[in-house]
Amino acid sequence: MTIEDINNQIKKCNKCQLCKTATQAVPGEGSPKAEIFFVGEAPGFNEDKEGRPFCGAAGHFLDEMLSSINLDRKKVFIGNIIKHRPPNNRDPLPEEIEACTPWLHQQLEIIKPKLIVTLGRHSMHHFLPDIGSISKEHGKAYKRDNQMYLVLYHPAAGLHQESLKKVIEEDFKKISKIRKIM
Ligand code: URA
Repeated sequence: MTIEDINNQIKKCNKCQLCKTATQAVPGEGSPKAEIFFVGEAPGFNEDKEGRPFCGAAGHFLDEMLSSINLDRKKVFIGNIIKHRPPNNRDPLPEEIEACTPWLHQQLEIIKPKLIVTLGRHSMHHFLPDIGSISKEHGKAYKRDNQMYLVLYHPAAGLHQESLKKVIEEDFKKISKIRKIM
């Protein structure tokens, strides 16, 4: 099974109601050999239209952050907890997360990244359900079952709140530190 096989299956998925309202699934993109896997929340308006993750305003900020630490977007993998856009970008429902995350775990099994970077609270809570709020946990790294995680704010948070932009920039630098010991 390749990442392309999984992504083709995701495109046909109808395990939850979101496939009825979304334009298309957004399986994720990047290198099948990525050492770093970024996991966001769910596709938004632009992603739903284009079928690509993080291609709107939050994506542009993510791209800036990646370049600031000399990380090539094509060499990492970027995906989401939820593969179809929730109507009006509402929060994903627990049953939608439950139906969709087996896809993410299949992607992770194939790619086997050394580091999973969680973007935002939904992604953080999925992988690290026992930790506190994102305002306390952002910028921290965790190791669980031999997998390394780094908790970051969602890039959109930096767009909505100017003061978080600097925090996100600083937190991104931790990726470079972790890369040196990976
Ligand atoms: N926000 C996300 O969490 N994921 C995307 O792909 C785009 C915006």
